[in-house]
Amino acid sequence: MAEDSLLDHALVRLDEATAHLNIDPDVIEKLKFPRETTKVRLMIRMDDGSRKSFLAWRCRYDDTRGPTKGGIRFHPDSTDDEVETLAFWMTFKCAVMNLPYGGGKGAVQVDPRKLSKAELERLSRAYIQAFARIIGPDRDIPAPDVYTNSMIMGWMADEYAQIVGHAEPAVITGKPIALGGSLGRGDATARGGYYLVRHLAEDLGLGNPMRVAVQGFGNAGQHIAQLLAADGHKIVAVSDSEGAVRADAGLRVDLLMEAKANGRSVISTAGQAGHEILPASELVGVDCDLLVPAALENMIHERNAHSVKAKLVLELANGPVTPEADKILAANDVVILPDILANAGGVTVSYFEWVQNRQGFYWTVREIHERLQAIMEAEGRAIWNISKEKGITMRTAAYVHALGRLADAIEAHGTQSFFTS
Ligand code: GLU
Repeated sequence: MAEDSLLDHALVRLDEATAHLNIDPDVIEKLKFPRETTKVRLMIRMDDGSRKSFLAWRCRYDDTRGPTKGGIRFHPDSTDDEVETLAFWMTFKCAVMNLPYGGGKGAVQVDPRKLSKAELERLSRAYIQAFARIIGPDRDIPAPDVYTNSMIMGWMADEYAQIVGHAEPAVITGKPIALGGSLGRGDATARGGYYLVRHLAEDLGLGNPMRVAVQGFGNAGQHIAQLLAADGHKIVAVSDSEGAVRADAGLRVDLLMEAKANGRSVISTAGQAGHEILPASELVGVDCDLLVPAALENMIHERNAHSVKAKLVLELANGPVTPEADKILAANDVVILPDILANAGGVTVSYFEWVQNRQGFYWTVREIHERLQAIMEAEGRAIWNISKEKGITMRTAAYVHALGRLADAIEAHGTQSFFTS
């Protein structure tokens, strides 16, 4: 299936779940296509006076359960197919967590590391100028994703406010605290995954301490390493795009984070005895108990899935394991905590941010953590029970769980005409 699109791969998971539920085929048909994808060309002035243009998208995949929600990615490899697939995953992720949202996603095809800060700001503002008609607090609510952050969300919120003529903080989440961002949004993706692993640790038969390998050392990767290390677990390997560093005795997470904060690769920390540098591609095969893919899609595939030694995979990235690799890992008794559950802490705290913006009443970080933990544990437990009852993987169980909620909403809207809002 190598020539199939990423969305075709993603839809395999929908088909697998459909087999375990009695659902109107019209509902499944609706979920197989994005509702609308808008593609534009953004043109900005570069610092040297030249102009440059960038392809950009916003996909609203399905809005049956509420306004579409999902991040904006800045990445040189972004495509129509990738944006639509990420928006499909957001649809299921929001349903898994029972958030009152549909799924959406945006992207700009750009390597933001090659832009100056002023160019990055112009590009972020141009994105909102292009998509201001599409987004809105009751319509479509962007947030950060790969290579975007709170600073970019701040510029975007400001541009939107200038266009509509008043502050509208609920149009975008992941904002700086000073502009109505929520406490606890920064580490929310990792923290959600951390609560999930902790809650299921006994059921999964996890040892203590665990040896952990983290693939990708951006926002999610850094925070999961920090949270697990603080509980006494050993971070035995981490990677970024330049390579991997491994140390059986455990790596110093503070030094790794300091390197990233200074624009250096994690491999620059490998000076000490017992440290070994590996190609980034070897991270997934490192000897460990817990493997955390926290980078991009398709990192564990049919060619490297056999090398996985971990007994548990926590998918903090979206789509890191292909359907073929799922089968290999299942045959080797590797449990996967799937993306649409494992990394849903990010969008859940985004939801809290949107609620706080709309109320104009702000919560303490303790309230944020407690509410996030309660939702992660409840939905994680429900999916664990479905998986045990039906004898299916956690991934298929998560899709079954979400699909039941999506089907209820689609049927309640009526299935005679779908393009309704
Ligand atoms: N980009 C994150 C995700 O893939 C967060 C989305 C959001 O907060 O809306 O889940």
